[in-house]
Amino acid sequence: MSTPVNADPAELEKFSELAHRWWDPEGEFRPLHQINPLRLAWIDGIAPLAGKEVLDVGCGGGILAEAMARSAARVTGVDLAAKPLRVAQLHALESGLSNLEYRESSAEALAQELPARFDVVTCMEMLEHVPDPASVVRACAQLARPGGWVFFSTINRSSKAFAFAIVGAEYILKLLPRGTHDWSRFIRPSELAGACRAAGLDVLHTRGMQYNPLTRRYWLDADASVNYLFATRKPAA
Ligand code: SAH
Repeated sequence: MSTPVNADPAELEKFSELAHRWWDPEGEFRPLHQINPLRLAWIDGIAPLAGKEVLDVGCGGGILAEAMARSAARVTGVDLAAKPLRVAQLHALESGLSNLEYRESSAEALAQELPARFDVVTCMEMLEHVPDPASVVRACAQLARPGGWVFFSTINRSSKAFAFAIVGAEYILKLLPRGTHDWSRFIRPSELAGACRAAGLDVLHTRGMQYNPLTRRYWLDADASVNYLFATRKPAA
């Protein structure tokens, strides 16, 4: 019997349909382009990427993976949507980055193949699209080496997130296509923290991410009521 894949085909299809737009900084993925310098600096400030072996889970078209590959020794990006991966591969070629590899794989399958391989694992804006996020958290923990870092970002299942991340972002400001997010799949920080602890990860830093639609600026602070990021660490052996 084959292991069922922890993925929602409708979600993967949504990202595949928009794949050709991935690198348009003013297109449907504009928010990912805009938050990228912010999250990259946060990650690099906690786990300096220079010389590191990095894995990006749910890498999509490769916005974060490419940025990390500019400092890291090597970056592997995995996703289960084929079209965004092809876009990512082409873009890496155009960017002349040879330390960047993309693979169509789930986190769970890669964890069987390459346990404890990576110094840094990132899994950003992905858990809220997956049927069983705790299983992805466990896989990310297995993929990190002892002492390695695992970063997550997702959206809180709060009424404010319904107002801001769905009504505001998809319907009023049209920052994201309608139907990008399903509120019931959002994850409370306490739930993510529980999944991390159950997977043996220590949650060491939490930040909220805010957006001002008038200035189009994003910044990090302590308010995790909508978008938030976790930095976790696998204890050294
Ligand atoms: N992490 C990237 C892309 C976020 S978009 C970034 O932050 O820039 C969400 C991505 O998760 C999409 O590329 C989608 O195909 C991917 N995804 C959704 N379900 C997945 C699953 N079960 N396994 C791997 N990737 C998945």
